[in-house]
Amino acid sequence: MAFEIPKLTYDYNSLEPHIDARTMEIHHSKHHQAYVTNLNNAIAGSDAENMTIEEICKNISKFPAAVRNNGGGHYNHSLYWSIMAPNKGGQPTGKLWDAINSELGGWDKFKEDFTKAGVTRFGSGWAWLGVKADKKLCVCSSANQDNPIMDISECACTPILGMDVWEHAYYLNYQNRRPDYISAFFNVINWDEVSRRYEAAL
Ligand code: MN
Repeated sequence: MAFEIPKLTYDYNSLEPHIDARTMEIHHSKHHQAYVTNLNNAIAGSDAENMTIEEICKNISKFPAAVRNNGGGHYNHSLYWSIMAPNKGGQPTGKLWDAINSELGGWDKFKEDFTKAGVTRFGSGWAWLGVKADKKLCVCSSANQDNPIMDISECACTPILGMDVWEHAYYLNYQNRRPDYISAFFNVINWDEVSRRYEAAL
């Protein structure tokens, strides 16, 4: 079955002023759609047509670059849409809050480290908050459309929060000011969904 872009559960303009409607529309309907179209073309007629996107990513070393780039693009963007929502932001609660305090040095240190992961990722890529095999939280980044579930990843973990730092994610509104986009991104994080993913990964 061919992959499809997920329907958003909120409107393109609903993350304003933090992320503008035009960026959201182009990002979702053009960029993500292109990854999906190119992924479907790259796996047409192969066994990968019967695999989930997670299975493809976990075995990415067996695939050509087109599947790595576009399959990663599909997985990463699907996660990104799901962990944002209007009128969110703030801070996590419950078990995730406790783990950020006990494993990542507290909220301020986490925010600083996650921001740094995004700002210092040279070129295009993603910043991640994830759960490692030992069930501890980690913060890391990856290049291009690579992600932490790929078998070639240098930051192996189950991602529970992903932030796109490609220019297409922010350039229309923030131009070269990636740190301003990252700061604004914190106002739209859906911590309920990140917490749900955290508890599922434990
Ligand atoms: Mn993107």
